[in-house]
Amino acid sequence: MSEKTRLAILGSTGSIGTQALDVVAAHPEEFSVEVLAAGSNVDLLIQQAIRFKPNFVVIHDTSKLAQLKTALEQEEVKVYGGEQALVDVVQMECVDLVLAAIVGYAGLRSTIAAIKAGKQIALANKETLVVAGELVTELARTYGVNLYPVDSEHSAIFQCLAGEFHNPIEKIYLTASGGPFRGKKRSDLEGVTKTQALKHPNWSMGAKITIDSATLMNKGLEVIEAKWLFHLSPEQIDVIVHPQSIIHSLVQFTDGSMKAQMGLPDMKLPIQYAFAYPRRISSDFPRFDFMNYPSLTFEKPDLETFPCLQHAYHVLARGGNAACALNAANEIAVDAFLHDKIHFLQIPEIIANASAKITFIAKPTYEDYVATDAEARRYAQAEIH
Ligand code: NAD
Ligand code: MG
Repeated sequence: MSEKTRLAILGSTGSIGTQALDVVAAHPEEFSVEVLAAGSNVDLLIQQAIRFKPNFVVIHDTSKLAQLKTALEQEEVKVYGGEQALVDVVQMECVDLVLAAIVGYAGLRSTIAAIKAGKQIALANKETLVVAGELVTELARTYGVNLYPVDSEHSAIFQCLAGEFHNPIEKIYLTASGGPFRGKKRSDLEGVTKTQALKHPNWSMGAKITIDSATLMNKGLEVIEAKWLFHLSPEQIDVIVHPQSIIHSLVQFTDGSMKAQMGLPDMKLPIQYAFAYPRRISSDFPRFDFMNYPSLTFEKPDLETFPCLQHAYHVLARGGNAACALNAANEIAVDAFLHDKIHFLQIPEIIANASAKITFIAKPTYEDYVATDAEARRYAQAEIH
């Protein structure tokens, strides 16, 4: 390879962002970092900027901008703050591929701006497709942009589809670890604390997605994400609990054959695959040993105890702006749970109540999504006392 892939890392201080920088550090001949952007963790952003020498650094929290500028005075880097700056830097000529790894609805605007500028996207921010999957995939088609999945399940499906060209998919199975409360019943979950919910058995991730994994909303969001990435109907997407998290997902073709992608759980692999696609580049990630996993097991998800997954299928069937509302209500409910304002079991209730109230729009525009997000946040907030 003569030319490096020039990256913009949005959400560089998060779980995905820091692992993406590990991938870059291991392959300096393949990748360069042109843009680093983060929410408010200014100390880590400064360290990253000094180490990876990007052209642009953006911090969303403008109260930290002066500190960032002072710390990077000696560096050859342009430093900006705020939402608009984020939208501007992803369009820069020096960027080939944007890693969308901001958490939540906050990642939507910059991802859309990057697509409209013709940048390839490595998509970790699943909420982008949950909120506005139809719009975002249409834009990607129009601007000739590929959306490379970073979510491990979707990367697995994407890897299984390599070489299948026009062979139709009969069905996909998204695997779920089941989270920290697998096997529990509703009555067991009444008093669970955020510390318990934040202890994921197999993956170390940001707080929001870890709570989403505990409620199974993460899998619900992934069902919706899969629909848009792979053009599937809801009936073609199934979820199977696989507690060992070794099979990252499976595709079933029309001849009944199934392909699975396996490996030890490590997000650096899907990140690296999205960055280097279609090539596989070397890694020193720990390798799978069969003797450590004498049995891989599978279970049906418990939809009674974890109704969030059910809610996701409902909004998928409803279409329009329904999933946008579900996502907004979930973000409010998870944040309230993380601030000890509500109990764990209130999360699905708030989502169901807020989603039921929104003004339904069958074919939303970008502005409609923005309005729906705000409306659903208001309804969800009103449920929190
Ligand atoms: P995280 O909370 O660890 O990191 C989020 C990053 O986004 C941070 O750098 C933060 O500073 C930045 N950020 C937050 N709000 C921002 C804003 N308004 N403007 C700019 N930057 C902002 O989250 P994470 O676990 O890394 O997850 C990121 C995304 O990737 C989520 O959408 C998540 O669902 C998805 N994802 C994560 C994992 C994982 O293993 N962590 C796996 C699959 C998918
Ligand atoms: Mg996932």
